[in-house]
Amino acid sequence: MEKLIFDYSNEGKKGVSLPQEKSLKQASEILPKELLRVKDPALPEVSESEVVRHFTRLSSLNHHVDQGFYPLGSCTMKYNPKINDVLASLPGLLSINPNQDDDTVQGALQIMYELEQFLAELTGMKAVTLQPAAGSHGEFVGVAIMRKYHESKGEKRKYVLIPDSAHGTNPSSVTSCGFKTIALKSNEKGCVDLNDLEEKMTDEVAGLMLTNPNTLGIFEEEVEKIAEIVHKYDGLMYMDGANMNALFGIAKQADMGFDISHMNLHKTFSTPHGGGGPGSGPVAVVEKLEKFLPVPRVIKVNDKYKMSSEFENSLGRVLGSYGNFSVMVRAYVYIKMLGSDGLEAVSRNAILNANYLKHEISKRYDVPYNSQCMHEFVASGENHKKEHNVKTLDIAKRLLDYGVHAPTIYFPLIVHEAIMIEPTETESKETLDEFISIMNKIDDEINEHPELVQSAPYNTPVRRINEVKANKELNVRWKPE
Ligand SMILES: *Cc1c(COP(=O)(O)O)cnc(C)c1O
Repeated sequence: MEKLIFDYSNEGKKGVSLPQEKSLKQASEILPKELLRVKDPALPEVSESEVVRHFTRLSSLNHHVDQGFYPLGSCTMKYNPKINDVLASLPGLLSINPNQDDDTVQGALQIMYELEQFLAELTGMKAVTLQPAAGSHGEFVGVAIMRKYHESKGEKRKYVLIPDSAHGTNPSSVTSCGFKTIALKSNEKGCVDLNDLEEKMTDEVAGLMLTNPNTLGIFEEEVEKIAEIVHKYDGLMYMDGANMNALFGIAKQADMGFDISHMNLHKTFSTPHGGGGPGSGPVAVVEKLEKFLPVPRVIKVNDKYKMSSEFENSLGRVLGSYGNFSVMVRAYVYIKMLGSDGLEAVSRNAILNANYLKHEISKRYDVPYNSQCMHEFVASGENHKKEHNVKTLDIAKRLLDYGVHAPTIYFPLIVHEAIMIEPTETESKETLDEFISIMNKIDDEINEHPELVQSAPYNTPVRRINEVKANKELNVRWKPE
């Protein structure tokens, strides 16, 4: 196990050279007295190479997508081309500040302006904001726009409809915006139950939040009918577009009847997702909602780009600055490099890979909603649990022993012992076949030695942890007194 960096500490060792005495004195003269430290900070005293090695070792204790297959359902973990990181790190893009004069950052503003246009094109919407710093933040902004829309008509609506298969952030965004959620039932195909929708849609409902493809990886075929029912009461259709991998070049939010949609640039557009950010959750809206978008917005006047806050009906600011710019640069480069044919190929390959895996995996594992899927599908470990008392959690842990990141488990809630698998378009047939053979091997193990799987993992730096205890007694091991 890797030691704490404090355990490498040796008195007097230095990793960086600080400026000379003279300039240090100046700093203490410039800064107000009450801001100066009385005591030296308790930092580890280590050399630069010790720091590099320590963190490199730590970084490889966790599984990551550059190391192996990462079939995490609902949160696309695909390979992200390194060239996009290189371009996002160009000094002219990396070393700018949001408080700079617009004149000095024309290129950056142009990237933002054009990226908004690309995303508008991909969703079929009229306008986009890049400000939200995460998918859930985008949801919050989208639902706040929903509220603002109804308020602008002098109405105060109370509820937002959400299918029972929705991502957990959906109900929390709704609640944060002051609405109450009403859950919609799924039908036997795993899609929205239209009768239930007809019953629950009233003029007290602000709108519907839908994920399409839904969290079972199934395309809501009746989406136009759904939109018609919601629009009949002037409700708004919100699409959770966190996972656009299956839609590029095939279907657009606006054509399906949606009025608002967020996307996750981290996940779909070439920034890895996970580890707590940075992220970007742009929101796209139809024409009648454009005026409510947050400020500042990038505008173009006489061939010059400008940040403008002069939008009277805007929600206002939703972030301290303009959003996570480097994530936007990656998305911009990604879209430009792939072009429309390339983006469509992304979707088609994502769908093909998921269906191939589903077909093979369903030979040994139950797949309750087994129609043609989009970019992901949900298997179930229910039979393995019933017959051998091996839980989905055990299967997920055993996968780690074989060098594969576990899929998302126990979500969506409507599938018992759910195993949600998203292979993504960036995996080869060889990788998929290897995963299939690992899943088959685990199935054999469950039949022959269930106790082996029940106690997995064996090969990871940390074995089975007590997750409840870890949550209740969080210990981040801060060393010094
Ligand atoms: C990831 C995800 C979100 C939330 O995105 P964050 O950036 O993690 O806040 C919302 N909905 C769905 C379907 C997602 O997969």
